[in-house]
Amino acid sequence: MSKQKEIKIVLVDDHKMVRDGIRSIIEKKAHMLIIGEASDGREAIKKSTKLQPDVIVMDVAMPGLNGIESAKQILKINPTIKIIGLSMHSNKQFIKGMFLAGAYGYLLKDGDATELITAIDTVVQNRRYLSKEINQDFLPSLSAIEEIEEKLLSTRETEVLQLISEGKSSKEIGKLLFLSSKTVDVHRANIMKKIDLHTVPELTKYAIREGLTFLEDL
Ligand SMILES: [Mg+2]
Repeated sequence: MSKQKEIKIVLVDDHKMVRDGIRSIIEKKAHMLIIGEASDGREAIKKSTKLQPDVIVMDVAMPGLNGIESAKQILKINPTIKIIGLSMHSNKQFIKGMFLAGAYGYLLKDGDATELITAIDTVVQNRRYLSKEINQDFLPSLSAIEEIEEKLLSTRETEVLQLISEGKSSKEIGKLLFLSSKTVDVHRANIMKKIDLHTVPELTKYAIREGLTFLEDL
């Protein structure tokens, strides 16, 4: 009999203790292998492009670039990677955001260890997995949501908005995104026009409400 193919996994969370906890659960499984870790959304894009994992366990709330935006960008580069969102929030906004970004699974951080293993084994078979603690009715309604969802801001604008709401200046944002601060200002102006909000506190409130920025990271 041929050996079962190993599932290659990248762990993404801004808290090392969380990554260590997940690692200790996964390392007990002979058919799973952790090939890398990242502590924010941007590092996750770099690592997964380089390492080509089968599965990414991705924290949703992270400073700089959150898990939803990171998932979108990773899947644009390699749509075959299966991403499992991991969060403390059972808020529909986050679950919806993660699945609309293309994730295949969603787990709560207070779920049990066996659920993480089940989720990984499920998504590699091209099947979606939603934490047992969350109402399962949500999955069938996803395609309906996908149809009515209309993205207001572009990916770049969404990235800039998260960074503005985290208190970063145009110069700092430009440095992070490899843009001139003038270009950042153009994005900033376009965002304000599109969502009709004109101060940083208003933008921050909007970003939190839309699940781009998380109070725990501020
Ligand atoms: Mg986090």
